[in-house]
Amino acid sequence: MFTDAQGEVSRGIDIIEFACGIPQLLKGDFTDQVSTGMDNWTIRQPLGVVAGITPFNFPVMVPMWMFPLAIASGNTFVLKPSPIDPTPSLLIADLLKQAGLPDGVFNVVQGDKEAVDALLVHPDVKAVSFVGSTPIANYIYETGAHHGKRVQALGGAKNHMVVMPDADLDQAVDALIGSAYGSAGERCMAISVAVLVGDVAERIMPLLVERTKQLKVLDGMNLAAEMGPIVTEAARQRITGYIEAGAKEGAQLLVDGRGFDGKTAGAGCDQGFWLGGTLFDHVSPDMKIYKEEIFGPVLSCVRVPDFATAVQLINDHEFGNGTSCFTRDGNVAREFARRIQVGMVGINVPIPVPMAWQGFGGWKKSLFGDMHAYGEEGVRFYTKQKSIMQRWPETTAKGAEFVMPTAK
Ligand code: NAD
Repeated sequence: MFTDAQGEVSRGIDIIEFACGIPQLLKGDFTDQVSTGMDNWTIRQPLGVVAGITPFNFPVMVPMWMFPLAIASGNTFVLKPSPIDPTPSLLIADLLKQAGLPDGVFNVVQGDKEAVDALLVHPDVKAVSFVGSTPIANYIYETGAHHGKRVQALGGAKNHMVVMPDADLDQAVDALIGSAYGSAGERCMAISVAVLVGDVAERIMPLLVERTKQLKVLDGMNLAAEMGPIVTEAARQRITGYIEAGAKEGAQLLVDGRGFDGKTAGAGCDQGFWLGGTLFDHVSPDMKIYKEEIFGPVLSCVRVPDFATAVQLINDHEFGNGTSCFTRDGNVAREFARRIQVGMVGINVPIPVPMAWQGFGGWKKSLFGDMHAYGEEGVRFYTKQKSIMQRWPETTAKGAEFVMPTAK
């Protein structure tokens, strides 16, 4: 949607602003006089050529999680965008050229697996940042590491939002509808599971049904749109396959988004890849629609008796990208934030995407590698530390030393 695209550009610019503080971020440590006349300090130096491989969603913001810090740290950058929406990468390249960036510092290579594999084995590429689905993230991590590269590979997600009995229900409904169906659920931080604690389900389900049916599914350029079309026909078919599987496995299909044909979405929209919002109740952890990432406008509701079961449910899931808890109880909020095995946590915030200086990354199968994207970890990822020890001849005692140097 156009409005979401504006938001992603703005979030990307946040990272540029953060990268403008690079002198501060690259500052090393200095220790004066570690031995007589000798000082020791560290500097962070660039790796050389680094590559970024990005998904179809957020085709401006995700590359901007990478190249501003990579370039500001002194590297050159090769972007391999998604073949589904390759043009924003060229627009970025053009803007950087207009801004005076020398040729060869920011580069774009189009393609799919063949281009990725060439980058993964190329000896000049020293580090690879990847964002995309989990099976490919795993492949990138293993292949890149095998070829001696530094790799951060951000994968898929299944983000849960817990609604406690004391939560403000209106706020929780707004949060669930916006975060499950915004961008047609094609966001790695979309909420795809509502965990309804105690008697919340009885109270919230009628409201969710009503709001899901009322979603404004329109041409994405229409400023009133709450949801636009799905990215490709293949993705639409994958999502409808999940809806069929959920119904077959016994989840209660309360709102079925299949059959929405786009005729009501606006002039010329009948050819698009459309789905309405879909809502399931009584989803259980053994179902395919619970276990796997759907990456579409499908919200699964799971009913649990208490807070401890909600936490256990989330911790048992193989993904750990984002999660959220809606409550008015400070202790519950605190316990949730501390106990949950997920990388990005919201308390009464449905999509807790960290700010530019905090770093972005999930846990478990949502991230392969040690360092998160952007923030200070981003700077560390694109640089290596060098330690320098120095003294000058006037102060150097004569005679070779044959034992481990110690402070004198
Ligand atoms: P994808 O994994 O299909 O593609 C991502 C990139 O990998 C593309 O550039 C693509 O060309 C390349 N690629 C695809 N198949 C490959 C292969 N076999 N070998 C080598 N490279 C290959 O992902 P997508 O469908 O474009 O994007 C959606 C996925 O990305 C979802 O799973 C979503 O959760 C995830 N995502 C994660 C985050 C995050 O921060 N964790 C952010 C955005 C999207």
